[in-house]
Order: sequence, then C-alpha cells, then structure tokens
Amino acid sequence: MGQVPSAPQINESEIDVEALRAKYAQERRRRLREDGAAQYRKAAGEFGYYAKDPYTPFAARAPLADRVEALVIGGGFGGLLTGANLRKAGVESIRMLDEAGDFGGTWYWNRYPGIHCDIESYVYMPLLEEVGYMPTRRYAPGEEIRQHAVAIAKKFDLYADTAFHTRVTSLTWDEECSEWIIETDRNDKMRAKFVITSSGTLTQPKLPGIEGIENFKGHTFHTSRWDYDYTAGDANGGLTGLGDKRVAVIGTGATGLQAIPHVAENAKHTFVFQRTPSTVDIRANRDTDPHWAASLEPGWQKKRQDNFLDIISGEDFDEDLIQDGWTTVPQLQRAMITGKIDESLSAEERERAEELLDFAKLNQIRSRVDEIVEDPQAAEKLKPWYRYMCKRPGFSDTYLQSFNRKNVTLVDTAEYGGVTRMTESTIVVGDTEYEVDCVIFATGFDVGVSGVLSGTMPVYGRGGLPLLHAWAQGPKTLHGFQSHRYPNLFHLGALQNANSVNFVHILQEQAEHLSAIIQAGRSAGVSIIEPSVEEQEEWTRTIHGSAIDNSKFQLECTPGYYNNEGKARPNLNSFGPGPVAFAKLLKQWRENELEAYIARHIEVNA
Ligand code: NDP
Repeated sequence: MGQVPSAPQINESEIDVEALRAKYAQERRRRLREDGAAQYRKAAGEFGYYAKDPYTPFAARAPLADRVEALVIGGGFGGLLTGANLRKAGVESIRMLDEAGDFGGTWYWNRYPGIHCDIESYVYMPLLEEVGYMPTRRYAPGEEIRQHAVAIAKKFDLYADTAFHTRVTSLTWDEECSEWIIETDRNDKMRAKFVITSSGTLTQPKLPGIEGIENFKGHTFHTSRWDYDYTAGDANGGLTGLGDKRVAVIGTGATGLQAIPHVAENAKHTFVFQRTPSTVDIRANRDTDPHWAASLEPGWQKKRQDNFLDIISGEDFDEDLIQDGWTTVPQLQRAMITGKIDESLSAEERERAEELLDFAKLNQIRSRVDEIVEDPQAAEKLKPWYRYMCKRPGFSDTYLQSFNRKNVTLVDTAEYGGVTRMTESTIVVGDTEYEVDCVIFATGFDVGVSGVLSGTMPVYGRGGLPLLHAWAQGPKTLHGFQSHRYPNLFHLGALQNANSVNFVHILQEQAEHLSAIIQAGRSAGVSIIEPSVEEQEEWTRTIHGSAIDNSKFQLECTPGYYNNEGKARPNLNSFGPGPVAFAKLLKQWRENELEAYIARHIEVNA
C-alpha cells in the first residue's frame, strides 16, 4: 500500500509546455479512428450471448396484468433510493422492475475479479446510517456493495412485488384512467399511477470492432458477465481454471485495471492488449478503522458526501474529510465536471494554471510507471499522454506490478487503432499473431444510452405522442425529471441537471426530490403531476444558457467514450453552476414552489 496520492508540485522550469502539447496531439492522432463510436458492436443479435445473465436462472412466470401505485424501472441504486424514499413517504404499492435477476444494477452485472468501488465507500454506498452498515474497506469490494443493495431492498421491503428478468418494451399513458400502461418482454400489461425510470447509463456491454471477432473458436466473455464456471475462483481471485490457459484481455480501462492483476496471477500466460494506457495512481485501500467508525456522530455520512461534492465541484470548504486521489486535484476535474468557477482568475489564467497542474499530475503518474515497471520498454508503453480527465482516472497498487511477471505480455495496439484482427485461435496485431485459449473483453459499455433516449423503451404520452418526437429538437424537461404531456412520469439520471463522479450521491438527491413531489401530490389528492409548457421551456432555456461547453477540451483529448471517440459535440444538457448549486435550487423550489406546482389544475391540449 502506497501513501495517499498528493497534489503535484508545479515546477514550471521542468514542464516543457510546447513539447507536451505536441506529444499529446501526436498520441491522439495515432489512436483516432475514422469510424469513431461506430467501431463498436452491440452485445446483441449474433453477439447476444455476451449479455446473458450468468448469475440467476431465468424463472418462468405468468404475465402480469395488475395495478400498482408506483412502478420503478431499474433496481440499481437510483431505483432503490427511489423505492426507499417512496416507502418513507408512505407509498405501499410499489413494484421494482429490472432486466437483471436481482437488485444491484451495475454491481449486479459486474462481478469480475478485483472489482472494487473507486470512490470512497463511505461517500459512495448510500443509506449507510439508515441500514446500519459500515463498509469493511475504504474502497469496498463489489460483492459487498451488491449485498448492500440487497440490504436496502430488504430494509424498505422492496422485494415484495418485484419483476426481475423483465424489460419494459413500452410505456403508454391512458388518458381515461390517468395511469400508465407498462408492457414488457414477459408479455406483461400492467398499470401504474406513477412511473419512475432509473435505468442507468453504463448498462449495455459493448464489443470492440475487431475484424473476424466472430471467427474466434476459443472461449470468450465480457467482464460484466464474468464466467466463473470457466475461470473458477470468485471476485477475490483464485482463478485456478486459467492455470493451463493462454488468456487475452482486451481493454485497459477502469475494469481492466482491476481484473488484469488476478488474471495475471492465475493464467499460464496473460496477453494484455492495450490501445490507450489509463492513468494509474496510488490506491492505498485499507480496512475500516473500528475506532474511527465508532467515533462517528449521527449525520456523518451526509456531511461527508456533501464535503466530497463541495470539493470536487469547486465550492468553498473548510476541511477535506476524504483526502484521496479525487479530492487532492479537484481543479483537474473542472474540464469535465461543471461546478463553481474561481472568479479571481481570468479565463486564460485559469486555463493556464489548470494545464500546468495537469502536466505536473501526469508527470507524477508517468514517473510512477518508471518506479514500478522494471522493463523500460513496457514502462514506456504504459505511460499515458493526455490530459487527466480525458479518461476515467484509474487507481491501483497491483496493476502496473503485473507487468513485472514473466507470464504477462503487454501488446501495444495503438499504432493499429486497436487489435487488427481475430482468427479461429489467434489475436492479430499488425503482422504478429498471438495464439490464445480465451479472450476476455474489458471493452466497456454503450454510454449514456438509457432506454428512454435510445428508443428501446418507447414512451407514448398524451395523444399517443412519442417522447422522442416531443424531444426531436432536444430534451425538454422541468429540472430534468418531468415533461409536459407525460404526466406522473419521472426520470432519474444525467439529463438537464448536474452530475458528479459520485453519481450515487446525485441519484440520492434526485430520488429525495421526486419522492417529495409524489408525496405532496398524494397528500393533496392530486391525480396528475405534470409541468406546463412554460415551465419546461424556462428550465430548458436555463440549461442552455448555463451549460459549459467543454467540447474544445474534449476534441483535444485522446479518443474514448468521454469524447465520443474523438468526435465530441457540445453538450448543452447540464446545469453549468454544478451539482451543489443544483441541489440548492431544488431545495428552494420544494420550499417555495412545490405546493403551487401540485395544487394547480393543468389545462392540456393533447
Ligand atoms: P472503458 O470503456 O473505460 O474501457 C474500454 C477499454 O477497451 C479501453 O481501454 C479501450 O481502449 C479498449 N478497447 C476498445 N476497443 C479496442 C480495440 N479494438 N482494441 C484494443 N482495445 C480496445 O470500459 P471499462 O469497463 O474499463 O470502464 C467503463 C466505466 O465503468 C468506467 O469509465 C467507469 O465509469 C466505470 N467503472 C467504475 C468502476 C468503479 O469502481 N466505480 C470500476 C470499473 C468501471 P481505448 O481507451 O483506446 O478506447
């Protein structure tokens, strides 16, 4: 375990700004692909088996045709927090629905060896005080987080009426009954007064666009559907089934960083196919100190979560309670994550200060590679040459060390835009073929594609109007949650609101807000809750007027899912002042406007 990551010292005489800019641009060019995001393949159709649930057997059941008061789509933390808050608001009839076989969302699907949360668990895992749980480690293992999701569901009695292994195929507003008709791939046709969607943004596994990928005859799977029948072991490692196997891992993002050390430890030989190296900073995980845990006062978690959010959103703070890799260089995150801006500097001064800090941070990260990796050639390939937030920052105290093992080969594919080709038994990069028994795809997920936005979950509102038609010129909502002509329908997620790397905290604020609206509606005996055209137009104007266009930064970044594979477009869908300001705005709205919002009668021209 290393010490805690620190903010780098900026020594301007040691930073050759022009040379670094040129090197970053050159490394970016090496990786740019004409086909951009189209290079990937969906884990569907002929590749559908990559997305199958390996954890819970599929149980037959009769189609549902009943009625609940609230239906929550998504059993991850967003859905669970909504369910918990609705229970607290007195809603008895709740159905939770998910494509997975149980609660947990991303933690249900991702069970690969080494999986841990990379945000501190004391701020990431929600409702710790209410559930009465203290994580065992500062960065908790995935299985512990999944169990916590299950514990929340039990605590708030959310298992009672669940529909798992169920995918919603349409939502249709029934004007006459003032309720939603929910149809699914299990032939359900159920009804609900309120529908809340929280279907996640990183859920659909994707495969790389490698020529001949379908020809490979050995064993293959995606990290989010880890095949322990093949590898043996569990999320703690012990993959003894790989002892006589030559294993290829394709992908070195946040997932690859965590899984590769375990594969390397167990496989006869591991080939790591890298296109872009991640930044790998100190992890310094540790057991939770029982004395510290015992010393915490009630309300400690909210205070800590708010502290984390304040720091990474650029707000003022008295003390850094977390002190880890996220909080020591919060300025670097500003390029990606909106928040309060330091007005004491001009835009140019700010940009220059952030660029220098960025170069210094990356120099620190590149030096760490040299300190750990013994083979200088491998070390050179493992060095990242891009701005810190071009990719999800990585943390590990075992990943770089894996490349000192004799049974691990690092294959750099950057020059070729990734792996060149696959045959029945090999992976080809340039002219070199690597014979392997198994290929593990650590190649990530379709990003930002909720069923609502992708159209896989069509929504028909008043007059049968499809939501995507209503949003043809871009989303129009009140605070990102509700739209005119779509009464009693609420969306959780990153849409026309403000976001943070601690996304579960954001979902928690959202779930509390939506539940407060529904509670107010129930108390007032109102059967329709819906924003007016004017309200959603005004909020959309607020969003467009405040959104910070970071596409210049993104276009200079190395390709990846953060910048639409090098083809970033201006994203004008987030609230510029950031998540802390957004939470304040919602609180004020609840205090000053919610009552009138609920009470008024809305005239609708369908
Ligand atoms: P990513 O999309 O981040 O990484 C995919 C990897 O596959 C990249 O290294 C990519 O290279 C590589 N790749 C894609 N196509 C090819 C190809 N044709 N040839 C070679 N390599 C290829 O997916 P992850 O699953 O790692 O992470 C996704 C997200 O999930 C993270 O960003 C994070 O938000 C979340 N996550 C969170 C964790 C947590 O602890 N909270 C842990 C793990 C994941 P390139 O970079 O060049 O495109």
